[in-house]
Amino acid sequence: MKITWRRQTIRSKHPFHVARGGASLEGNETQRVIVRIECGGITGLGEATPSPYYGQSCDSAEATLAEAAPLLGDDPFRVVPVMDRLLDRFGEQTSALAAVDAALHDWVGKRLSVPVWRLLGLNPESTPHTSYTIGLTEPEELPARLADAQEFQSLKLKVGTDRDEETLTVVRKHAPRVGLRVDANGAWSPEEAPGRIEALSRFNLELVEQPIAAGQLEALSEIRRHSPVPIIADEDCVRVADVARLVGVVDGVNVKLAKCGGIREALTTVRVAHRLGLKVMLGCMIETSLGISAAAQLASLADYVDLDGHLLLADDPFAGLKLAAGVVKPSHEPGLGVVERTTDANRIRWISPSE
Ligand SMILES: [Mg+2]
Repeated sequence: MKITWRRQTIRSKHPFHVARGGASLEGNETQRVIVRIECGGITGLGEATPSPYYGQSCDSAEATLAEAAPLLGDDPFRVVPVMDRLLDRFGEQTSALAAVDAALHDWVGKRLSVPVWRLLGLNPESTPHTSYTIGLTEPEELPARLADAQEFQSLKLKVGTDRDEETLTVVRKHAPRVGLRVDANGAWSPEEAPGRIEALSRFNLELVEQPIAAGQLEALSEIRRHSPVPIIADEDCVRVADVARLVGVVDGVNVKLAKCGGIREALTTVRVAHRLGLKVMLGCMIETSLGISAAAQLASLADYVDLDGHLLLADDPFAGLKLAAGVVKPSHEPGLGVVERTTDANRIRWISPSE
């Protein structure tokens, strides 16, 4: 099994800001790491979306890939033992591991000529609609943003400024019936959060995501007790072990492949959450269609889908996902069903672990 990778520059259509630092897309441009696994003439692809908030960067992802290469073995079918080995060893570098996991699944699906969702025993026909995210935006700029979002049944608005109510007033004026989710990314203090949620709940919200900074579960539980709107944990739910601690604290968890380490780990996390009575949102980072396709394989299991990262890009370098009536669906092609848009694949230089 041969692993190689390359950097991929991506650009968002609009500047993307959230309430906590570190997740903004300054200057609209950033980089991802595209991972390629080759074996027996078949190539699997995956995408790493490193998050500075979780101590990750493209450099740390590439260093992880180089160290992980000798541990991959020679049989891409052995996804579970390989990923367990990598998670034990590089547990903090989940975005790089998610890329390896996606590439392995892509390879297996292509080798067996089945889409990954079929390999996992899932039915994408029952996938819920995705929300479309609007980052922190001046209320004056909202009408133009909303014009972009007309085909979506739900919007996810980033909040956490003193203009949130103004923002929601504008949104409701232009989209009176759309589902509204708000994500504070931990911006509110435990003292102010109940009042903020109460004030925003008059705009008829589907849910509130991560109202206060991670690591304050007692306060979060208290906020949820008084909240008229379901509370979803995102930054407080990184991997499967976090789910048990959140039972009775929140209504649901936001599962992302980049946080937990890939398709296999996300599948476990989703199923544990459901078995423990929690709702599941399947979320994403700002990723290309390659990264989103890995998550889309599982989306039919989610109660809330938030897989719009590729739709926020100015020029998605991959293709393969379908968007119809606000639902993002995976391809019926083998593996992840993703193809590179470039017509000049020979110019791409892949980096090997020895470099
Ligand atoms: Mg969030």
